[in-house]
Amino acid sequence: MLPVRGGDGRKLTVWGIRTTWSTVGDGEFFCPDCGGDRNYRRRTGRRRFTVLGVPLLPRGAAGPVIECQGCRERFETEVLDHLTTTRFSAMLRDAVHTVTLAVLAAGGTASRGALEAAVSAVRAAGFQDCTEEQLESLVEALATDEGRLGLYDVPECCGAALAIELHEVLEPLAPHLAGPGRESILLQGARIALADGPYTPAEREVLATVGAALRIASEDVTRLLSAVRAP
Ligand SMILES: [Zn+2]
Repeated sequence: MLPVRGGDGRKLTVWGIRTTWSTVGDGEFFCPDCGGDRNYRRRTGRRRFTVLGVPLLPRGAAGPVIECQGCRERFETEVLDHLTTTRFSAMLRDAVHTVTLAVLAAGGTASRGALEAAVSAVRAAGFQDCTEEQLESLVEALATDEGRLGLYDVPECCGAALAIELHEVLEPLAPHLAGPGRESILLQGARIALADGPYTPAEREVLATVGAALRIASEDVTRLLSAVRAP
């Protein structure tokens, strides 16, 4: 804008570019300025060349931008790549729950120790109401299901369906976690596996799948697993 002084000293804008924004969508995102989950509007703009405030010539499109409804700050659309806090905690909770079920399915639920370790891991992850009975019946359902599908034909294998499930839950989470966060999910699984004695081959198999899905190098998985002590 080019400001000039009017006779009364007020700034007058002779010409400039004015952008009019319209909303094309909305949702929830993590606002880096507010530092929390906020609603956003996705907006696109139309630029117009103005003379004395009157829009005359179109000057192309602006945006799209993401506008925070809390602080009104505008961001590039890449800001949506960052998970909301709510979504992130839900993914983390589901990750621990799935890893726990997979380890129990591989190692069996006969041992109280393993079930207790499993329940406390799942509760700590955010499912406060989780009980041993619940986990037991989930694992049973899983075993029956997979048994029927013939996925346990190879006894050393954790079951193809379970492996797919682990990848689906863990892979999208991995890029949002730093190394220690990813390792911590693996270690929680390892502690449950060790609660009823040394790792069985099936438990090792599950934990290797967990490590791979979390993008932990296989030699690091081996190192981490051998460093864990039983709870
Ligand atoms: Zn904000």
